[in-house]
Amino acid sequence: VKLLEVKSLKKHFGIGKRQVLKAVDDVSFDIYKGETLGLVGESGCGKSTAGRTINHLYDATSGQVIYNGEDILVKKSAREIKELKKKMQMIFQDPYSSLDPRMTVLEIISEGISNHDSHLKKEEKRAKVHDLLELVGLNKKHANRYPHEFSGGQRQRIGIARALAVEPEFIIADEPIAALDVSIQAQIVNLLKELQVDKGLTYLFIAHDLSMVKHISDRIAVMYLGNLVELADSEELYDDPLHPYTQALLSAIPVPNPEIERSRERVILTGDVPDPVNPPSGCRFRTRCPMAKAICAEVKPEWQEVKPNHFVACHLYN
Ligand code: SF4
Ligand code: MG
Repeated sequence: VKLLEVKSLKKHFGIGKRQVLKAVDDVSFDIYKGETLGLVGESGCGKSTAGRTINHLYDATSGQVIYNGEDILVKKSAREIKELKKKMQMIFQDPYSSLDPRMTVLEIISEGISNHDSHLKKEEKRAKVHDLLELVGLNKKHANRYPHEFSGGQRQRIGIARALAVEPEFIIADEPIAALDVSIQAQIVNLLKELQVDKGLTYLFIAHDLSMVKHISDRIAVMYLGNLVELADSEELYDDPLHPYTQALLSAIPVPNPEIERSRERVILTGDVPDPVNPPSGCRFRTRCPMAKAICAEVKPEWQEVKPNHFVACHLYN
């Protein structure tokens, strides 16, 4: 069952008088109930903007976001938006900057509960905060402390507890582990997986590389300069990456055992992401693509299903 359908979503930002930054430029994908869709690409590719536009933090330029069968981008009353926002929560990369340093953990998480269950009495709220802390691997002793007293991983747990306080169905996690040590990353990914099963959650999990995403995602979408370039089941994407950009992202992951060299050729990513205000013509990846041909500068490659449920936009597969 589709929980979310993103259709031709665009988010453009005006820069000065004449220039337009096309951060998200015609992106379409679905998210099924209970799954995790990974959204991967280097910084500046538009992933966070896509997440924030879906979550109404930004107004979309055009396109549709259909949530449970209803287009949530069409004009809504403040009350309707508030209701929707309870169902969709965000978790951010830097939990510290999103946690008010003057509030205790109890106050931070209670705020979410008040939004959801305004009728609860103070003691009931406190009990609920304690339950949420246990759920994310903390305990009630942590409730009266302040954010600066916690490690990065613990702060991310607090951020997750706050998101869960409103009993959401769908969580957009915007690089929730990018700022953490590798050992802590695995713990947070495992926690998110447990909570998903427990609460029947659906995730959009945003990441800038492919190293951890496989462990949490059912399917993965790869984004480059405002466009999706590939989408497939996780296993399939790792076993048979088709787009040169995906191949490059995979080559960049350290191989645990160098003896097992990958059978495919390594594509090494050189240079930076071009200026999104003036993206390259045709295929936006062509300035960094070792396989680029003449047509790549002229014609934008179409999004096509080249294998069952495996989509790619690249002229190599015409
Ligand atoms: Fe490379 Fe051309 Fe494919 Fe773009 S369309 S990824 S430039 S081969
Ligand atoms: Mg980002």
